[in-house]
Amino acid sequence: MVYHFEFDIAALILTIFMAVLIFFKKGLVRHANRVFLSLIGLIFLSELADIFSSIYNNSPSPSTVVYQDLWNYLYLFAHNALAYCFMVYLFFLMEFVKKKKVAMFILSIPFAVDVILLVLNPFTKWVFRYDENGHYVHGPLFVVLYSIAFLYMVFSIIFVIQNHKYLEMSKTASLMAFLFISFVPVIVQIFVPEYLLTLFFETIGLLGILFSIENKDDTISPVTGIFNRFALESALDTAMDSEGYTLLLVKIPNLNYYNKMIGFVNMNEILGKISSWLEKEFMMYACYDCGRGHFAVVCDRIGEEEIEKCKKDVLERFEKSWGKGKFSLSFPVQVGVIHLPEDVKTMENLQMIIDAPFDGKESAILDAPSMIAKYERRVLIEQLIDKALTNRSFVVQYQPIWNSHTGKVQSAEALCRLVDDEYGMIPPDEFIPIAEQNGTILEIGRIVFEEVCRFYQEERLNRLGLDYIEVNLSVVQCMDRDLRRIFDEILDRYSLDAKHINLEITESATADNQKALVDTIDTLRERGFTFSLDDYGTGYSNISYMYEMPFSIIKVDKSILWKAMDPKTGTGQKSAITYLENTIRMLRDMEYSVLVEGVETMEQKMLLEGLECDYFQGYYFSKPIQKDVFLDYLRVVNA
Ligand code: C2E
Ligand code: MG
Ligand code: MG
Repeated sequence: MVYHFEFDIAALILTIFMAVLIFFKKGLVRHANRVFLSLIGLIFLSELADIFSSIYNNSPSPSTVVYQDLWNYLYLFAHNALAYCFMVYLFFLMEFVKKKKVAMFILSIPFAVDVILLVLNPFTKWVFRYDENGHYVHGPLFVVLYSIAFLYMVFSIIFVIQNHKYLEMSKTASLMAFLFISFVPVIVQIFVPEYLLTLFFETIGLLGILFSIENKDDTISPVTGIFNRFALESALDTAMDSEGYTLLLVKIPNLNYYNKMIGFVNMNEILGKISSWLEKEFMMYACYDCGRGHFAVVCDRIGEEEIEKCKKDVLERFEKSWGKGKFSLSFPVQVGVIHLPEDVKTMENLQMIIDAPFDGKESAILDAPSMIAKYERRVLIEQLIDKALTNRSFVVQYQPIWNSHTGKVQSAEALCRLVDDEYGMIPPDEFIPIAEQNGTILEIGRIVFEEVCRFYQEERLNRLGLDYIEVNLSVVQCMDRDLRRIFDEILDRYSLDAKHINLEITESATADNQKALVDTIDTLRERGFTFSLDDYGTGYSNISYMYEMPFSIIKVDKSILWKAMDPKTGTGQKSAITYLENTIRMLRDMEYSVLVEGVETMEQKMLLEGLECDYFQGYYFSKPIQKDVFLDYLRVVNA
């Protein structure tokens, strides 16, 4: 029989084409991708071996019997390994390996039988031999080899059908197509055994899988053109299971701010530039765009010296600006290094560290322990919040607000305190942002609001000269469509008029000016609440937003007062005094009442009186105090 290997040549060309495609679309660091690469390698070997073994089998000669042997063994090994490898690929694709290690072991036994048969064949001739003319002939156990391959294929089909829910339809379809296409030549070759079709059909099947499953487009960020978060997660899955991976994190601060400043399109272009630079700089490794201005580089087996150099290179590059022309920007960068898996034990923790926002103002190198300590502190605070919610142990303190015209305490700001038996007082600046991120602020906000209403009504604070209490409202609460209903219920329960509550919204919240926020404020205003704008002057000021919101009081941030007159030295910059003066005048001209926070000294109070500031709040008068102490205070000063 003369073997026709033209189809093998076509298959070989297709395989080389696939290999080139994969090479230029840098591979993902994922187990399944690596097994897919092994499949390509095996089919390439099978094709090469099939061509050469056919050449030698077609015209055998005693002088070439060594080569004939070599290619025949190689073909039988590579082709049978392909069936086994495909099953392994399916296991990795569906994350089955970690869960079913024993099943994996048992399923490897048939392939081990293949290998044993081939190793013994030179002595037993059970798989194949050469006849007296040197022609290749099947041995009595040849059928075992192909039965095992057949078994693997049937098992793979059952496995794909059983687990189809873990994959998208199109991906399941391409796997099934591969399996069925692989059966076609088996049938055809019964009739025309001299035509070697099998590998050609299998190659077509693999090509289908390459385009549908191993296509990396859904793992590429459309903004920066590098791997996205989804791809990173797969890579980290692998890294957490293996040894010797290092994760380099590169974070730029406050992407939203820059987006607003120069627009999405220009900022995306700059992010693209940063990505290209990272890709070039870390050519040997895969770079990922994790979103929100965070990037990650997954380094496989990198030395400590080299990683130190990488960190320095990133810092140095960020000293220069990005982009060109009118959109040339420079920003600080935070670079962190995590060794996997020893530094971080769970994927969840790792995600948290990757997502942790840039904190600080300047470029910095963060070491793993500090990143982890920060993360662990965060987990602790989350636990303490939950505990305080369960035990209802949040405490509300009150800080008096003085009316400069009447010289009386007209209101007070309610400030929430998280006090834990073991960890003491956790400052609100620490726990409020965390509560905002995990949503518990809604419950905390409700507790504070209810506590304030109860306090006001039970103690009849209006009789003590206290017109209203200021309650801080988080932007997360403002986005909650239920807020009005929740506040209504509480006001009704305590038969309290909404005019006794003034809601404080921070300036940073109004800068976002989301429709939901404006709508919530509108319905609360209809209900009779009044509003203050908190932390005015901290950098988000936008007068046009102020027009749209119903503020009656503007609370000027303490930093503005302190620059004009430092509470410790009593001195200040001339320009800062001018700024404070003009701010107060402008706000008063706009018919707002002006409150200045952070009044710590008599001199500051006198300065503000001279500027006709309406309200004062600060340690000079009182720190935030427990409600009983506050009642005593009120009875004395408002008597
Ligand atoms: P804020 O609303 O600007 O509150 C004023 C902060 O300035 C309070 O800090 C207060 O203790 C402090 N302060 C007032 N006068 C002085 C002074 O003379 N010197 C100094 N050094 N500090 C002064 P606190 O209580 O630590 O609260 C920090 C922030 O936490 C608040 O800033 C507010 O944004 C937030 N917060 C507190 N309670 C709540 C709450 O119930 N809900 C929400 N959403 N946020 C809250
Ligand atoms: Mg406030
Ligand atoms: Mg404030």
